[in-house]
Order: sequence, then C-alpha cells, then structure tokens
Amino acid sequence: VPAAPPPYLDGLNPEQRQAVEATDGPVLVLAGAGTGKTRVLTTRIAHLLHLGKAWPGQILAVTFTNKAAREMQQRVAGIIGGVAEGMSWLGTFHSIAARILRRHAELVGLQPNFTILDTDDQVRLLKQILAAEGMDEKRFPARNLAGLIDRWKNRALTPEKLGADDAQSFGDGKGRTLYAAYQERLKTLNAADFGDLLLHVITIFQKHPDVLADWQRRFKYILVDEYQDTNVAQYLWLRLLAQRWRNLCCVGDDDQSIYGWRGAEVGNILKFESDFPGALVIRLERNYRSTGHILAAASGLIAANEGRLGKTLWTEDDMGEKVRVIGYWDGEEEARASADLIEGMRGHGRRLSEMAILVRAGHQTRAFEERFVTVGLPYRVIGGPRFYERQEIRDALAYFRVLVSPDDDLAFERIVNVPKRGLGDATVQQLHLLARERNISLHHAATLITETDELKPKARSSLRDLIDGFGRWRAAGRDLPHPELAEMVLDESGYTAMWQADKSAEAPGRLDNLKELVDALAGFESLAAFLDHVALVMEIERGDGNQDMVTLMTLHGAKGLEFPVVFLPGWEEGLFPSQRSLDENGLAGLEEERRLAYVGITRARETAIISHAANRRVYNQWQSAIPSRFIDELPRNHVEAEARPGLWGGTMGDRGFGSQLREADLFGDRGLSPGFQRAATAKPVRHLDASFERVTANENTGDDFARGQRVFHQKFGYGRITNIDGNKLDIAFDKAGAKKVIASFVSKA
Ligand code: ATP
Ligand code: MG
Repeated sequence: VPAAPPPYLDGLNPEQRQAVEATDGPVLVLAGAGTGKTRVLTTRIAHLLHLGKAWPGQILAVTFTNKAAREMQQRVAGIIGGVAEGMSWLGTFHSIAARILRRHAELVGLQPNFTILDTDDQVRLLKQILAAEGMDEKRFPARNLAGLIDRWKNRALTPEKLGADDAQSFGDGKGRTLYAAYQERLKTLNAADFGDLLLHVITIFQKHPDVLADWQRRFKYILVDEYQDTNVAQYLWLRLLAQRWRNLCCVGDDDQSIYGWRGAEVGNILKFESDFPGALVIRLERNYRSTGHILAAASGLIAANEGRLGKTLWTEDDMGEKVRVIGYWDGEEEARASADLIEGMRGHGRRLSEMAILVRAGHQTRAFEERFVTVGLPYRVIGGPRFYERQEIRDALAYFRVLVSPDDDLAFERIVNVPKRGLGDATVQQLHLLARERNISLHHAATLITETDELKPKARSSLRDLIDGFGRWRAAGRDLPHPELAEMVLDESGYTAMWQADKSAEAPGRLDNLKELVDALAGFESLAAFLDHVALVMEIERGDGNQDMVTLMTLHGAKGLEFPVVFLPGWEEGLFPSQRSLDENGLAGLEEERRLAYVGITRARETAIISHAANRRVYNQWQSAIPSRFIDELPRNHVEAEARPGLWGGTMGDRGFGSQLREADLFGDRGLSPGFQRAATAKPVRHLDASFERVTANENTGDDFARGQRVFHQKFGYGRITNIDGNKLDIAFDKAGAKKVIASFVSKA
C-alpha cells in the first residue's frame, strides 16, 4: 500500500510536483516569473532529504545571492524541520567555490589562507603591473584591463587558453602577457580575485581527476536557481561536478536573463539538453505571485523582445489594481511623493517591509534615502552604498587582513601609513624595491629593512613598531576572543585615535562604523571566517533585521524576490533603458534592459507603481528627461497613467531654487565645513629633506610634555626630556647629545 504523500507535496500543481518527484537524472525547469521555480527547488531538497536519498551534506544547491541562500535554508527548514541544518553546501557559486578552493589551494600555488581581492584591490594591482611593463595608465586604463580579465575568467579562459585574438586584445598586443603577470602577482600575494575562485577550481578538477572524483561522489544532487544567469565558467564547473550522478536540476527563465554584461549566457539553457541527453524539461505556466493586471502588463512588455523562447503565463488571481504610471516634475518630488504614498499605505495597514523601491542604478537610492531620513521612515539599502566599502571599514579590514595573512601586500600598503606614522611614499617605494628584488612580500621586506640603516631613524622605528605590533597582536590572538583582538589592533595601531582626533563632521559616524564592525565580527567563528564573509557578501542589511523597514535596492539585486508593493522610479530614457547599455550593446543591450523591466514589474504581488520625472539633476546640472520607451510599451488596458500637478505647473527656475534650499536645510552646513576647517587650521609645513618625508610642525607646547619623557625631534632624533622651560625643552638626545629645542618640533615617542 503506498504511503500517503508527504504534506509538502499537496500544495503543488501537477507540473511542479513532477519537477519535485523526478529526483533522479537531469531536469530543466524553464518557466516565467512567479511560477514557483524556487519553490520547486526548495521542495525538491526537502523531498530528497525526506526520502533519504541524500544526506544534507551531499546536496549542492546554488543560488544567486547570499540572501537567497539564507531564504532557501529557512524554507527547507520550514518544510522538514531541523534536518536542514546540515545543508552546508547551499550558497552562491562564489562562496561554494571559495570553500572548495581552500581545501586544495596548494594545487594552484596558493596557501589555504589566501585572501580574496575585491575590485579595488584588483585595479590597484593591475596599475602596478601596467607600470612595471612601462605602459601608460592613461592610454591603457587598469579598469579596462580588469574588466577584460574578468570576462576571460567568466569564459573559463586562463592565460594559456586565450585565443590569438584575445591575447592581442589589450595594450598593443600585450593582453596575454599582462594577464599572466597578474596571475603570477596574485600567487605571490597569496590572493585570488572573484573570477579565480571558480577558475582555479575548474583547473584543479581538470588536472587532478582524483580530486574531481571525490567531489563528484560527494554531491549526489545538484540544484541551481536562476540558471539563465550562469556564465560559461559556472556552467563548466557544474557540468564537471554533475558528471557522475547526473542528478542536476536547473531552474530558470530566459526572460529574466539580466547578467549578459557579466558574461551570463542564455545559451546555457539550450546547451543543457544536448549536454545532458534525455533531460526532462518541464514548463510551468501558472503564476502564483501577481494579480492579473500586473502579470498582463509585464507579459505585454516582454513581448517586445525578439530573442526569446516564448511562454504563456496565466493566473487564477483577480485582475487587481492596474499598474500605476506617475509623472513627476523632478527627482525630489518623486522621492517626496513616493514617501507620502508609502506613509499612506502604511496608514491603511501595510507594513513597511511589504514595500520596496527598485532602482536601475545604485546612485538613485540617494534621493529616497534623504527623504526617508527627513521624514523618519525606516529603510534599509540592500547591496547599495555598502557598509564594507566605507573608507574606515576598508582600513580596519586591511589591518585584519595583514593580521591573518601577513603577505597580503595590498592590505599592508593600505595601512602602512594610516594613521600617519612617517612612512611616506619614499619609504614604501624602498619596501617595494626590496620586495621585488628578493621576491618577498612587503611585510617581509619591512622586517628586513628595519634591521638595517636604510631608513631614517623615525621611519625605521615606526615601521619597527608596526611590525612588532602585528607580531604582538598575532600572539595575543591565540588567547583573546577575536572581537577583542580586533579592538586591540584598532586601538594600539593608533587607528581609532586618528578618527578621535579628527574634527570633521564625518568622524563620529566613522567611529560608530568601527564599533559596528567589531560587533559584526563577533558573529563569526574567527577573523579569517569574517574576512571571507566580507569578501563574499553581496548584500548588507542596515539596522536591526527585525525592524519594519522599506527596502531599497537595485533591480538586479531584486531578482527572485517578491513584495506586495513595488515602486519602480526613474523610468526615463537614458536612465532606464540605460544609455550606456544602448551605446555598448545596441539591440542586445536594449533587450537586456527590457528583461530588467520585466523582472521589476514581476516582483510586485499587488501594487506596482512606475514613475518618471521631467527633470533630473545630474552632477549638479539640471537635465530634462522624457519618459522611458518601456512605458509606451506597456499594454494600455492594464495601466493607469497619472500626471501630478507639479509636472505641468511652475517654472524650472523656481523649482530648482526651491530644491536647492531644501537640500541646504537638510544638510545644514555639513557639506561646507570640513573643507573650510581644513583650510583654517592648516599647519605650517617645511621640507627637511626633499627626497624623503615632509615634516609637519605640531601644536605641542611645553605643557604637553613631562620631564623624563621619551620624545622625538625631527632633526636630532630620539631623546629624553631633562628640563622644561615654557615652550622650550632641554633634551638629552641619544645621538646628538644635549640640546635645547622648541616644543612644537618635538613629538612624543
Ligand atoms: P522568479 O522567476 O521571480 O524567481 P519563481 O518562479 O522562482 O519566480 P517562486 O518565488 O518560487 O517563483 O514563487 C512565487 C510565489 O508563488 C511565491 O510566493 C510562492 O510561495 C508562490 N507559489 C509557488 N507555487 C505555489 C503553489 N503551488 N501554490 C501556492 N503558492 C505558490
Ligand atoms: Mg525564483
């Protein structure tokens, strides 16, 4: 007698259920937005565990963002309870590849504690490589090279595998040479960039069949969400891993392919059937997410695309509200009115967390953020101006990176003279010279150089202090909990003090951020684990996760998510579709933009509000804008267009003036004062030794010192104070003997 089907299968429609129950063999679910693809994937995991087909650790599930991975984990746990806890291989391509790579790092010449570089580091490194090759950064921008290398990596091309055309494609035929030099440098630094995470793993799999076989055996079931956005390298990686069991289930929607610019290949959908012959292909057509008008508007829009597989979507839901299209006078009115609408809906019982504002470009959140701050509307920015990208956070992270991997040169260079400790460019250049000569890291070079007389005494001793500091902190780390260690590093290095002494308006916020950072890393088992997390994290939530907040994010980041109410601002030509996409990719670019619009509308369950402004300020200049062509393409019957009175009234001049006034109110004088202060308190600067450091006189007076204290003088070096006479100090210098000097040229040692 067959047992009753498990309850989680009950709610599924027949096609969904088929996709869940076809556990073995390759399966491709190809279906439109909101048809339950992700739900199928989640239920499938639950089903595999329920049937005992695999242990949690034998299931590899790839999602597009860390957030999606967390949600999937929760959903699986929701279906089958605690068993989901062992799902340790549920994550993004990058996070999973990084973990695999750490286990075999030595096979590609890295150590297991390798650092993951971000784009900034990558560009800095490439600048050095271009310089070493004697190439002009202006003619051959490092950023372009970084983009090119990324694209090669997305296509799984190592320097050796580059075709002749590619190899020639940059810097007068130096593409391959530069790429190879970059990879060599990364190895020396014990570092990998994002593209390397996958590429190295692929290389390892291809060169070490035994390693591959181990992983193939482990992953009995592989599941992939948002399959339409995988690139060649990711596809290759999946195909290698899935070869043994062939239990690969991919779900996707060609209409939602929005990462072509990052090397995603919709073609992977077509390849699936030929690479996995006999694959079961399932189509889902019923949309469970959106009401009728929203679905019809989105379907009508995407129909304008030519290159698509085509599909039907229907819903049993009501028609619901029409999609609203609102025209505003300018961006500020758009932000203000949207905030009002949000408040209004909140008054009618909507929670803020049910509402999202989805923008085309990250910078668009600013106007909304400012408005929300002004009216006290709680919000969070996901993936936006990121916490981890702020200057003070990046500095602090650099300290931690050096602590964890001393050979991380980029991190070392970033903090060697932050706070200022007299280790200027000249000193750093000397370190570079030595490091290159001996093929060692900067940290190592610094250790060596402080044992010689190469550096001036001051530089030498502060470099010594820094190196000793790292040694001491590393030793302390064996006993101290890592958050305390982090605090110790920031305090003893003088980094915290630097911001405490800073009188600018931003300084207090920066200190808060540093505190926040230390708080954040307490949630991880080690500093190293935290650094990995930071490198990989794609979205950061602000504030307390439980608080009711409006979500602000980019359309790209919103893929796979849903909200009852969705605001889609800035639908103007040039902004959306983005002019850059059109310029760079023509029709293909336009179609990708349209898919992005489709993704945007289909995030909405009940209310979708599209808006456009007639005027925008861009780099402090007013520009007029016309509504996006996508607005024209929406089927009329499903849209309700409104123009706000402001759109047609008033003149641009007085509007513009009004907005400027508002902005001034909002910021107070904060925008002006830091620069102003800097000018007012600028200190006298004199050159002591033109080829080396610039020496700054300080504001010390005799009162700042005590007899017996160790001090340092720019010209005479270190000494001990023997007497204080007003602003003059008597000092017994270690080398120069007894001298009388002015307090403002002496600093505490
Ligand atoms: P997208 O293409 O945007 O990623 P999707 O195809 O992954 O969408 P899901 O997010 O899985 O769709 O599902 C959309 C919504 O429909 C979710 O709220 C989900 O819970 C709901 N849903 C899916 N299938 C069913 C079902 N059989 N019965 C009821 N609700 C369902
Ligand atoms: Mg989904």
